[in-house]
Amino acid sequence: MSEKITSIRGMHDTLPEQSAAWQKLETILRELMSSYAYQEIRMPIVEKTALFKRSIGDVTDIVQKEMYTFEDRNGDSLTLRPEGTASCVRAGIEHGLLYNQIQRLWYIGPMFRHERPQKGRYRQFSQLGVEVFGLATPDIDAELIMMTARLWKQLGIDKNVVLQLNSLGTLADRANYLDALVAYLKQHEDQLDDESRDRLGRNPMRILDSKNPQVQAVVEGAPTLQDYLADDSRRHFETLCSLLDEQGIAYEVNSRLVRGLDYYSHTVFEWVTTELGAQGTICAGGRYDGLVEQLGGSATSAIGYAIGMDRLLVLLEMQAGWRPENTADVYIMGTVEQASIIRLAEAVRDQLPQLTVHMHCGGGSMKSQMKKADKSGAALAILLGEEELANKSVSIKHLRENCPQESLTMADVPVYLSNFFKR
Ligand code: ATP
Ligand code: MG
Repeated sequence: MSEKITSIRGMHDTLPEQSAAWQKLETILRELMSSYAYQEIRMPIVEKTALFKRSIGDVTDIVQKEMYTFEDRNGDSLTLRPEGTASCVRAGIEHGLLYNQIQRLWYIGPMFRHERPQKGRYRQFSQLGVEVFGLATPDIDAELIMMTARLWKQLGIDKNVVLQLNSLGTLADRANYLDALVAYLKQHEDQLDDESRDRLGRNPMRILDSKNPQVQAVVEGAPTLQDYLADDSRRHFETLCSLLDEQGIAYEVNSRLVRGLDYYSHTVFEWVTTELGAQGTICAGGRYDGLVEQLGGSATSAIGYAIGMDRLLVLLEMQAGWRPENTADVYIMGTVEQASIIRLAEAVRDQLPQLTVHMHCGGGSMKSQMKKADKSGAALAILLGEEELANKSVSIKHLRENCPQESLTMADVPVYLSNFFKR
């Protein structure tokens, strides 16, 4: 035997027993998007490397350490997308969707980051991304948060997540703040760890969300961005808060929430659970009013969020009653020639396309077919033997209930099944 080739570390197969849960979640997400009048956009998973460098920021962890970048056969530098916002903005500019228009868009798909694989952190993972263009007012910030709050409720995890909220203000607000922050951190440089000291020169705001307790203690005393927000920025944030209050959405203002990407401004938020250990953020987003212009479009307000679907599914698996199963409704089997069995199965599918009809293949004794029927999870087996075929009838066997076997004419099968599965 030759040596086995395995999958890449941090990139996982979704096996048939897990795919039902993915499909269920995807269906719920699609319905949610449609109920808020958002439209789907699909972008390629590979883009020019420059797109991510320019949007996410040269000094971010993603660009410095996590991108899957390679040269294609023409010598162009390409990157597997680490996130979807940059591609969505690129597509919007390229196809003229953003100029003077309002767009509410969503996408689902795989993202790639070369991180250390661990629970809830993978090198290929899936996100639902939502992006809105052309709206500057905080009502749209509220809408995005409302739709995620509705989703948690629908999924039965609203008690397991909390909303953290912050405002990063404008670039100008941040520039003033950065001076004060860096001055403070420099005074305490000896108490910082290597990572934070390194960030002090490149991306000092990221020190605010350091996980190191010693660094956190320093950060406790640091000036907060809230105190440096200009009046307009403050008003935007206060209006959002009052809209959320009015809708009964609880939140914590977390002045240390800065997010890892450079392009955010004003509102940033995360939905966090304590049930997934250190990887507790299942949804993160914010406003990025400067990005469209930065990528070559005209100045356009924009806001979005992304849900980490792999993490969300881990959380859902912990909830009773979530787990959907891949099971058949009806198992069609028999000992007559296969053409009659195929004809019956196809006739049932013609009449009742909503049912999952599992047709037995490969012959075998009644006993062995029955075993497979049972394993399929189907509620009913339809049996076609010589006698049934001669009378144009079938036998129905209940696989999950203790009911006597029934006999039906073939013509009555669709009505029988339709009544049975309506129950
Ligand atoms: P984290 O702080 O957990 O690294 P992030 O700030 O890098 O998250 P975003 O880029 O905002 O995350 O992505 C949005 C969401 O996508 C995250 O909240 C998380 O749920 C999910 N996500 C991000 N990176 C990964 C990963 N490597 N594996 C699985 N899910 C991820
Ligand atoms: Mg990250």
